[in-house]
Amino acid sequence: MTAQVPTQTAAALGAARALACRECGADYPLDASYACMECFGPLEVSYEPSLVTRDEIESGPPSMWRYEALLPVTAGAGSRPGLQPGFTKLVRADNLAAALGARAVWVKDDSGNPTHSFKDRVVAVALENARRLGYDTIACASTGNLANAVAAAAARAGLKSVVFVPSNLEAGKIVTTAVYGGTLVAIDGNYDDVNRLCSEIAANRNWGFVNVNLRPYYAEGSKTVGFEIAEQLGWRLPDAYVSPVASGSLLTKVDKAFKEFVRQGLVEDRAYQAFGAQATGCSPVSEAFREGRDIIRPVKPDTIAKSLAIGNPADGPYALDSVRRTGGAIADVSDQEVVEGIELLARTEGIFAETAGGVVVATYRKLLKEGLIDPSAEVVLLNTGDGLKTLDAVAPTSQPTFTISPSYDDFEANYTGDNA
Ligand SMILES: *Cc1c(COP(=O)(O)O)cnc(C)c1O
Ligand SMILES: [Zn+2]
Repeated sequence: MTAQVPTQTAAALGAARALACRECGADYPLDASYACMECFGPLEVSYEPSLVTRDEIESGPPSMWRYEALLPVTAGAGSRPGLQPGFTKLVRADNLAAALGARAVWVKDDSGNPTHSFKDRVVAVALENARRLGYDTIACASTGNLANAVAAAAARAGLKSVVFVPSNLEAGKIVTTAVYGGTLVAIDGNYDDVNRLCSEIAANRNWGFVNVNLRPYYAEGSKTVGFEIAEQLGWRLPDAYVSPVASGSLLTKVDKAFKEFVRQGLVEDRAYQAFGAQATGCSPVSEAFREGRDIIRPVKPDTIAKSLAIGNPADGPYALDSVRRTGGAIADVSDQEVVEGIELLARTEGIFAETAGGVVVATYRKLLKEGLIDPSAEVVLLNTGDGLKTLDAVAPTSQPTFTISPSYDDFEANYTGDNA
């Protein structure tokens, strides 16, 4: 049974037509719901056929809102109070490529967003819909970066925020959330516990939970990473991209973005591969990929890559689909390799990534070593967050080369000229 879609709401929300079940295809109105009443499958925004041109996009604002025609938002999102995330740098990483024996590597550096992670994008789309649906409070369950993004966006929009995080989060993510005001609830439990509690609260409170009842809108925000990559490469798709995987949403939405750009005629249709990266201490999707399973077995996370520590990933099966359909792979790396990945990117390109970025660089290195990715492929690595928020990961290995008294002789006695 398909619910009647109120056309007025649909028409008001750009080209968005309905929420459609990813499993059975049933349609629902564009309101705050996220699960199919027929089969409990997740809902996703679907669109009317529409065409947008390169010129229209290029004449838009230098933010993710240049793609507003391809997002579930009403026109003019870029001119409403918000943090204007997106249009971050795509950095050509020749030194990193040389260090790894690869031909062409780019880093999509989302640490340049307002709260220094790609989560500002997803929150921006969720917030537009929270406003449209009349919520005065936005909330979320977060592994850290989403907490920052929700608290900051609520402050700027003049909304209340209630943010739920695991109490063992890095100090660099607690402080950078609390500073924006709002309510910050630390929970003695892991992310999956936090998420479960939030579903309960969402059922009883009239709040816009960006990654619960607003999740279909939230998830669309990640498409802008893919749109930007294609536009910044000069309106073409890369051979491959490597995405970190927490819930699995980002990986699938970059894939969706590439497909939408092809359908819109904005880029030429060509084969590309999607690769996923996880930390071994929380690698349920990588495990399922390795063992050829469709079912994801939930795990208890134990890794320094806390932003990726989702043991029961909602979009894991869809991430597997993307990777298998495109001939990619998902792999995982140890915490030691995560640190090496952070250091390698910092020392070759001057980019200080958070642990999730370390996971991506280290996984790319591993995929090359194992022959799962072609060294001659042009690859875009997604750096989704800023290393300043996860200093503890590299603090043990990133210290002064030597400490001396203010004496010239001491300096000469210690300085070797090695560029560690
Ligand atoms: C949330 C997050 C991700 C992964 O997001 P999913 O869409 O849930 O897979 C990746 N990197 C960072 C830094 C994040 O905060
Ligand atoms: Zn369904």
